[in-house]
Amino acid sequence: MAYMRAKSGHRAGGNALGGHFLKAPEPGQSRLCDPPVKAGKQSRLRLVRIKITDVESCFMPMRELDMDAILDSLKKVQSRRILSIEERPSQAEAEAAVSTLLKWMGEDVEREGLVDTPKRVAKAYRELFAGYDQDPGEALGRRFEEVGGYDDMVLVKDIDFHSHCEHHLVPIIGKAHVAYLPDGCVLGLSKIARTVEIFARRLQTQENMTAQIAHTIDDALQPRGVAVMIEAEHMCMAMRGIKKQGSSTTTTCFTGAFHDQSMEQTNFLNLLRMSKE
Ligand SMILES: [Zn+2]
Repeated sequence: MAYMRAKSGHRAGGNALGGHFLKAPEPGQSRLCDPPVKAGKQSRLRLVRIKITDVESCFMPMRELDMDAILDSLKKVQSRRILSIEERPSQAEAEAAVSTLLKWMGEDVEREGLVDTPKRVAKAYRELFAGYDQDPGEALGRRFEEVGGYDDMVLVKDIDFHSHCEHHLVPIIGKAHVAYLPDGCVLGLSKIARTVEIFARRLQTQENMTAQIAHTIDDALQPRGVAVMIEAEHMCMAMRGIKKQGSSTTTTCFTGAFHDQSMEQTNFLNLLRMSKE
């Protein structure tokens, strides 16, 4: 299966990622924005790989991936703004919007089964999208420096998550595997799963989510390297459009030593492969 590479400087003229990642936050930008990369620090996102595995791949063409579009969306990862509470519509307005959608579908919103549906949908959305009100960097918590000289890979695998694609608002269901190479300190293991959860509870593309997790850990811990792999099924592919059930998309993001040293990357991939055998 071919991997497609998206490197910094992929396009003619280069630096497709760097300039935007180094951009300082705008005045008044919400505190809950994804953490900006500190000025002067080179972006360490060097490689994002995407693989579409399909159960019947021999009968259908490889899905075309527009790498320029992916790079453009990655550029925006760090500057994505989250609306402040004051900028958001009210609960009543959200419920009215759900009611409008139901009527647009052809439903009689007055019937018994639907009377409380707008309220329930708004409440469910609060929970499913709770990640907008949480700071993934803060969720990583404190760093522990008593590691007894341990500097080998820390891998947290099979972190289940449910997210929603930002194009159709339908579920993305998958697993994240996250590893880092400590440089003098480590994170609480549950905190990595918590960070995955926060990013999952926002509208996502799998590519962005992979990069966001890697960058957040990179910024918070400053380890020797971070590796993130996400394997997920997109309901927008299974339920609509090409209706391909059982296909899964794999994305990876490697920073630091995981990018620079093929041995570290191979160790990470081997550990994941061994756990599946
Ligand atoms: Zn979608």
